[in-house]
Amino acid sequence: MTNSHPAPAAPTAPTAPTGAPGLTVLPTPVVPPAAPVRPGQLTLAAPRRAKPPRHLADLTPQERADAVTALGEKPFRARQLSVHYFDRLVEDPVAMTDLPAAVRERLVADLLPTLATPVRSLDCDGGTTIKTVWRLFDGALVESVLMRYPDRVTVCVSSQAGCGMNCPFCATGQAGLTRNLSTAEIVEQVAAAGRALRSGRVPGGRPGAADRVGNVVFMGMGEPLANYKAVVGAVRRLTEPSPAGFGISARGVTVSTVGLVPAIERLAAEQLPVTLALSLHAPDDELRDELVPINTRFTVAQALDAARAYAATTGRRVSIEYALIRDVNDHAWRADLLGRELSRRGSGWVHVNPIPLNPTPGSRWTASDPGVQDEFVARLRARGIPVTVRDTRGREIDGACGQLAAAT
Ligand code: SAH
Repeated sequence: MTNSHPAPAAPTAPTAPTGAPGLTVLPTPVVPPAAPVRPGQLTLAAPRRAKPPRHLADLTPQERADAVTALGEKPFRARQLSVHYFDRLVEDPVAMTDLPAAVRERLVADLLPTLATPVRSLDCDGGTTIKTVWRLFDGALVESVLMRYPDRVTVCVSSQAGCGMNCPFCATGQAGLTRNLSTAEIVEQVAAAGRALRSGRVPGGRPGAADRVGNVVFMGMGEPLANYKAVVGAVRRLTEPSPAGFGISARGVTVSTVGLVPAIERLAAEQLPVTLALSLHAPDDELRDELVPINTRFTVAQALDAARAYAATTGRRVSIEYALIRDVNDHAWRADLLGRELSRRGSGWVHVNPIPLNPTPGSRWTASDPGVQDEFVARLRARGIPVTVRDTRGREIDGACGQLAAAT
């Protein structure tokens, strides 16, 4: 079942004050659409765009105190505001009763600007999977997906509007890259999910089970490691204890990448033991060059070496993502080659997540036959490699892996 909920209207364009001659009404800002791309073309540097407004979640606790002081308020107000945002998940500033009204108005206007407005919300799985399309300050659209399981809640966040990696089987990749998100625009997707849970709007938790977000996966729109600084900032906000951040365990955070090798090496050195997922999809360069165009810059061997080193440095087992595409990458010999390439780098460092290919508009590809998928899995397991087939949650609402295109 798919339900569509009406969402609050998007903010309207600021209008000129009446009686101010010469002023014209400003149009709603609209970010230019991403430039069209040729098959295989990579966009590594995001187009330069107007920056989203600064937000509390962009700042460290010290920077928050400085910002509050600059507004003429006592620095302890920064902590109060942080508790409201990160810990109490306050929806309406009026509930911030420890802040005098005038102070509250000033601080909220300056440090808690509206970053994202819901445009549309779709759910399935009895309301426990919810995809939300967000409109950002400049009109750019992104999507996030909340998945509630009996004992845990996972939020899948976008790190860019669009994506420059151009993987031909992924809907986001086909749309091109509009812009990078800011740290706070990423964090706000998690905050919004937390507020929805807290308010009881999301069914499905076992009685007594946590109603907080415990897992965040950077598997929405975008290539997180191509927006490195904002993503690492967001990971810090997610994992820092309250009220600096949400206090989500780093082991509950997964950063997924096509394999930007230098950025994987840099992430390993951050002392942030998040899980790394590598979207491999082929064990040989010839096919991977086509399926994951970044492979023309960093080969399968280089990506696997970087993933192996990441596991060694952080102690976190790496996930290998492998969308199974019928007659394209699902051959028994490719399962064997993948198994050899992983085992040759050691044991216990890796885990494989085959994903039945999710349908995307205009794609000529389809998911593997179940029997072929089973054989692929069995061949990896025969080498002692742990394998978990990824569920296709959210498929009916185009909210599953590779389906996020933010078409409203
Ligand atoms: N750019 C990052 C983050 C996106 S994660 C990355 O590629 O890792 C989204 C995951 O879904 C990636 O593993 C991606 O390869 C996979 N995916 C993309 N399109 C898909 C599709 N049609 N079916 C199944 N998985 C898909």
